[in-house]
Amino acid sequence: MNDIQTPTLEVDEARAPLTGLDRCDSCGAQAYVRATMSSGTLLFCAHHAAKHREALEPVATVWHDETAKLHER
Ligand SMILES: [Zn+2]
Repeated sequence: MNDIQTPTLEVDEARAPLTGLDRCDSCGAQAYVRATMSSGTLLFCAHHAAKHREALEPVATVWHDETAKLHER
C-alpha cells in the first residue's frame, strides 16, 4: 500500500527563494522575479518583470516576486 502522492516538487521550486546566481532571461541582470508557466520558467530582473508582468502573470502558475528585496536597504 503506497497510495500517498508525493507533493509536486515543481511548486516548491517555483516558490524557492531566488539567489544572486539567478539571472534575468532578457538582460542577464540579477533576477528578482520567477514566472513559472506550464511551458517552463522565466527569470526577470525588476525592470523586465514590470515590463512583462501584464502579459505573463495571467498565464503563470506561480508569479514569484522578490522585488521588495530591492527596497529593503
Ligand atoms: Zn532584465
